[in-house]
Parts: sequence; structure tokens; C-alpha cells
Amino acid sequence: MNPDPPGSIPGSEFDLIRRFFTGLGPRRADVLLDVGDDCALLGIPAGQSLAVSIDTLVAGTHFFPDCDPESVGHKSLAVGLSDLAAMGADPAWATLALTLPRRDEAWLAGFARGFGALADCHGVRLVGGDTTRGPLSLTVQVHGLLPSGSGVRRGGARVGDLIWVSGTLGDAALALSLIQTGEVVVDAELRARLDRPTPRVALGIGLRGLATAMIDLSDGLAADLGHILVASGVGAEIQVTQLPLSEVVAARLGSGVDWTLPLSGGDDYELCFCAPPERSGSIRALGDQLGCRLTVVGMIRRAPGLILHGPDGAAINLESSGYDHFSHDP
Ligand code: ADP
Ligand code: MG
Repeated sequence: MNPDPPGSIPGSEFDLIRRFFTGLGPRRADVLLDVGDDCALLGIPAGQSLAVSIDTLVAGTHFFPDCDPESVGHKSLAVGLSDLAAMGADPAWATLALTLPRRDEAWLAGFARGFGALADCHGVRLVGGDTTRGPLSLTVQVHGLLPSGSGVRRGGARVGDLIWVSGTLGDAALALSLIQTGEVVVDAELRARLDRPTPRVALGIGLRGLATAMIDLSDGLAADLGHILVASGVGAEIQVTQLPLSEVVAARLGSGVDWTLPLSGGDDYELCFCAPPERSGSIRALGDQLGCRLTVVGMIRRAPGLILHGPDGAAINLESSGYDHFSHDP
């Protein structure tokens, strides 16, 4: 009797790839060769550049090991799409390197559902990957397209530009701190801000030609805006009373003085961008069209550094300005 081809052995690596990772996201004419060969083959239209970004999520570091797999699938793609958004790129393809401690089909099915649903929303096709055994971790590379020369970089901010942020800040960090302290049952909407962030893809694309510099907020506004300031060779002033807060974060801050939640809380995946004041009308129109809250929080200035003005006008000092994986190493 002939042995089964590897792909048909139930539960084999190839069987898992076929069942869970083939056909995720919409078919695209520019996918010349899909999952299943040594490489995927992808067509890049003339006049377009490829934007590429890769992120790893490690269980226990980036998500709770018992987090529902659908959320993990969503977030593993969302963080990459957020990077594409911050460049103004249009998402096209993704690849996925998945390391799993054991064959857990229910987990894989949930993961693929979460990943696939977000991929469908943004027209992204999963075109390849790698599947290995080991401690749970997911690495997703995303590929996007933009007209050559049009990427919105971090280094373009100019003195006098207004600083904008999308959405609200600090929700994901509040959810995380509530879960960690086990204080209360975290409401589903707040929890979703941590587990299922919304990458601002349409906003990023719409800001091509409007924003002078842009970054997505993964490590907190102070740290991420800091990257724009260094890359652009400028400084900035932020009015903390103008930071856009959800009701739940605002209630948490109350009249207190702890601004670290919206300033240093990570995982919001909102966009922070700069633009000259005369573009504000177009930017507001874009926000209205997309139903996306956009708020001016400060201004770029010549002197380097970030000045945070508190409610009384006095400067605020931030002890921690964002998450750094290696900051605790000797
Ligand atoms: P190779 O040994 O040539 O690297 P693999 O056995 O790793 O090939 O993978 C076989 C095919 O399945 C390849 O096309 C690869 O891109 C795809 N693949 C493997 N794992 C995944 C995954 N987790 N998601 C999507 N595609 C995958
Ligand atoms: Mg391989």
C-alpha cells in the first residue's frame, strides 16, 4: 500500500497548514503563487513601493497565555497593519511564523478565525509562513503597497506643525493594569482595546500628502512621539488637558495627577502625526469621513525635548516614558 502523501496525514504539520492557514484573507490577482510552494510569488505594480514590517508576539510577554486564540490571531495581524498604517501603506500580503507547544486544533481554529477576519477586513492575503514546535509565539510579517516616494516617515516634522492623535489614549494600558491587579472584572469594551486593537489603516492612507511625519502608538505617546522628534531634529510641547480620553480613563484620572496612563501606556495602536496648521481643515474632513476622532494635542517647536504642560500650566515629569524590552538588563 502506498503511504499517504504528507499533506493528508491527519494532524501532520502539512495537514494543519492546509486546514488552518490556506486561503486566509481574500484572493488577490497580485498573488501569483499562494501558500504551498517554497516561496510565494507576488506582483508589485509599476510605480509602487513595497512597505514591509515584522512583529513578534510572545505568550506571557505580549499576551496572556490563556488569552482567547481569536484575539491573539487578531492582534498578531493588527500590530503589523498598524505599522503599515503609520507609513500610509495599503496592506496587501502577510506571512506568519507560528511556534506552538503542542498540536491544539481548537486553539489553531480560533487563531485562524481571528487572523482571517481582520485579514478579510483589510484585503490582506496570508501567502506563506512557517510552523514549528516550541514556546507559544507568533511572528507576522506584513507587506503593503504605496505610490513610490509617498511613505510618511518619522523624520518629516517641522517647527510649527500641529501634533495630532487618533482615537483615545490609555485604554489598553488601563485594561492591562486592571487585569494585572485583579481589581475588577474588566468590561468587554475596555478589554477589547487591549486584545483587539483597531489598526488605523484608512486614516494612514488618507494622511499621505497631509502628514509630515507619522508613527503608530505601541509604546505610549511620550516614547513614540519622542521617536518623531529625534528623527526630525525638533522638540515638542504637549498640553495634557487636550489628550483625548475615553470616559473610563478620564474617570480613572479624575482630578488626580497621574498622567502616565495616556502618556506612557502602550498598546493603543492609534496614530500620532504632525502637519502644518493650514492642513487642519482637510485633516478634520478626513476624520469626519472615516468616523475617526482626531485631536490636536500639541505643537512642534525648535528646541529639542518634549515638554508636557499639566492642567495648571506647570511642566509634568514622566518617570517612565514607554515600554522597553531591554531596559531592565544590566
Ligand atoms: P519549506 O520546508 O519549503 O520551508 P514548509 O514546510 O515550511 O516549507 O511550508 C510549506 C508551505 O506552507 C510553504 O508554502 C509555507 O509558506 C506554508 N506555511 C507553513 N506554515 C505556515 C503558516 N503558519 N501560515 C501560512 N503558511 C504556512
Ligand atoms: Mg519552512
